Amino acid sequence: ESAALSQIGLAGLAVMGQNLALNIAEKGFPISVYNRTISKVDETLDRAHREGQLPLTGHYNPKDFVLSIKKPRSIIILVKAGAPVDQTIAALSAHMEPGDTIIDGGNEWYENTERRIVDASANGLLYLGMGVSGGEDGARDDGPCVTYIGEGGSGNFVKMVHNGIEYGDMQLISEAYDVLKNVGGLSNDELAEIFEEWNRGELESFLIEITTDIFKVKDLETGNGHLVDKILDKTGMKGTGKWTVQQAAELSIAAPTIAASLDSRYMSGLKEEREAASEIFKNEGLKEEIENVGDVDKKRLIDDVRQALYASKICSYAQGMNLLRAKSMEKGWGLNLGELARIWKGGCIIRAVFLDRIKQAYQRNPGLANLLVDPEFAREMVQRQSAWRRVVGVAIQKGVSVPGMSASLQYFDTYRRGRLPANLVQAQRDYFGAHTYERIDLPGAYHTEWSKLA
Ligand code: NAP
Repeated sequence: ESAALSQIGLAGLAVMGQNLALNIAEKGFPISVYNRTISKVDETLDRAHREGQLPLTGHYNPKDFVLSIKKPRSIIILVKAGAPVDQTIAALSAHMEPGDTIIDGGNEWYENTERRIVDASANGLLYLGMGVSGGEDGARDDGPCVTYIGEGGSGNFVKMVHNGIEYGDMQLISEAYDVLKNVGGLSNDELAEIFEEWNRGELESFLIEITTDIFKVKDLETGNGHLVDKILDKTGMKGTGKWTVQQAAELSIAAPTIAASLDSRYMSGLKEEREAASEIFKNEGLKEEIENVGDVDKKRLIDDVRQALYASKICSYAQGMNLLRAKSMEKGWGLNLGELARIWKGGCIIRAVFLDRIKQAYQRNPGLANLLVDPEFAREMVQRQSAWRRVVGVAIQKGVSVPGMSASLQYFDTYRRGRLPANLVQAQRDYFGAHTYERIDLPGAYHTEWSKLA
């Protein structure tokens, strides 16, 4: 009878769960599956049958599901993060035994995972928080893109920052599109061609690749034009980007590109307000400015935007990596940043050729203060900065918002300056709040009675 037991179980059969279960079965590992709503169990069984004789069995209640798995059991759960995970754990763990393991593959807040590790161990159960990226196709990817990240909630935390970086990449790509379309006047067909070309160079990545495809798709609903132009300009989100920005603030790490991406999503949601404001401000008082920009050289703009996108992206990754390092130090996780770049290179949404360069940068110097000062990245930033400034400049002049690209540029310009106007802010703080200041030439803390001396 035990020969019929599955090697692993998976509960939660929405997009991710179904595809991961089929992937596991397809590799020859007998798997049991379960979902709260049983129609999804049947759906998964149907797909398994259609794909051949996959070793996958469906179960309609938690008990049968748990008992169908070989001991010590390993059960992956892929349900909505938060309370659904607690409810699923409660339903399953009632039938599990000491030595069994629960693996949460969802985008969970890392502290929930740390709490559950403690709760599970009280019942002799093991618990692992496992971040998964790649969407429905990634769930079927067989690249070597998995690693043990570290203890506690570290896996979920890394996945969270991965998603923050993903927000940044998507925002930067959308700004490149905006500038090429609204400053350069490029058509969707031209955009598809340009992105296709970009995907053969340093920008080669999953997101550039799918963007190329998006520009090619016609609108079948009306039979005219491209689908991308018919999509409402309002971006949805599930929370990982917001958590990333909150964590950056908690840890005093500047992450302006990721924050700009999050803010852009919030502002995209204000569709009606934006439409009303666009009536009020429609190029009001800007006509001269815009005309003064003159005709842009399309070919040069395209090349500039490519360079601006790449340089902006490096800054965004630098922010994400610094956030991971800061959290790793706070929690004692010992994260290996180069190794993270390596696994993100696999089936992840942010997979990109340039992640290999990040991996190498950390291999050259594991203690690297910031990706920007790695000799190779530094050289690339220097080479691209005038193109980058031209793009942000022309966009600003024409009133086309580029929050991500300009946040990245400001990050770079702030980081590369040996002296900032922070001296004045310190003086103000000391003036009104006696917060004291340090001097550049003498040790110690100073306070000045500014008003008396002025
Ligand atoms: P999802 O839409 O996030 O969640 C739907 C699943 O959660 C269904 O199986 C649903 O069961 C279950 N569920 C919801 N509330 C429940 C409850 N109270 N008790 C038990 N089950 C409950 O699904 P998903 O998109 O496949 O994502 C699963 C996890 O992977 C999430 O954490 C997600 O953030 C993460 N993730 C998703 C992607 C992606 O591309 N979609 C990529 C990476 C990671 P019912 O069918 O019974 O409602």
